[in-house]
Amino acid sequence: MTDAKVAIVTGGARGIGLAATEIFLDQGWRVAVVDRDAEELHRACGPLENVLPVEADISDPQSVDGVIRTVAAQWGRVDALVNNAGVALFSRADRTSFEEWREVMAVNLDGVFLCTQAAVPELAKTRGAIVNIASISGLRASTLRVAYGTSKAAVIHLTKQFAAELGERGIRVNCVAPGPVKTKLAMAVHAPEIISAYYDAIPLNRYGEAREIAEAIVFLCSDKASFVSGQTLAVDGGFDATGVGLP
Ligand code: NAD
Repeated sequence: MTDAKVAIVTGGARGIGLAATEIFLDQGWRVAVVDRDAEELHRACGPLENVLPVEADISDPQSVDGVIRTVAAQWGRVDALVNNAGVALFSRADRTSFEEWREVMAVNLDGVFLCTQAAVPELAKTRGAIVNIASISGLRASTLRVAYGTSKAAVIHLTKQFAAELGERGIRVNCVAPGPVKTKLAMAVHAPEIISAYYDAIPLNRYGEAREIAEAIVFLCSDKASFVSGQTLAVDGGFDATGVGLP
């Protein structure tokens, strides 16, 4: 077991991050589950073996440095970083306060930057992989997503920037852009008319399951994706392939 690969999954206490954690564990990895919600974190990790719960806020540089130090001290290696933690805010551009804008950017964009920078020294030792979680809202604009969509579009570009520089150290950097999944994050912002618009706009005519997003994340972290870097994979039931818009 000591040679088992190690993944760090931010926002892993529930939703897509927890689904990714479960697949990594099924495939024999060990997982450091990072979350700022201590209660959810310990509830999720309690029944699982080969996990290390780490309470941290990914938008805080000191907290992030502590995560990498803790994982390196516990397991001595990091093979993959999944930058999954995120927050959602749906509000009209002219009614979004600067504080709301900053909170979304701090977690969804600054958090990815901070965790990636902090993990690079460990990932360089294993020639590891990074997968960032963006969104279809980062690929296509629609109303109410001025902060959320902009943060996710930036994550897609940040993926390419890091891929361009980290390749020489053997680190691959990719991105998954999920379509809608009925997690706590989505259900807090998807009003009934948004839900029905998604059903109409998605060729597969349904929401995705967290596990369907997680399978793509784990694939991109695995050796099966050994020549894939700088890419964004939309896992969205065909939404991005069509021109059908959302309100
Ligand atoms: P979720 O709310 O179920 O899980 C997000 C987790 O991130 C939570 O456990 C939360 O406590 C944690 N988190 C939030 N801010 C944090 C911080 N600063 N530090 C540490 N942990 C923090 O949401 P989810 O739907 O599973 O979302 C996972 C990712 O997928 C997010 O980046 C989200 O934007 C993205 N995404 C989700 C959907 C969807 O429809 N659910 C669609 C596209 C993209």
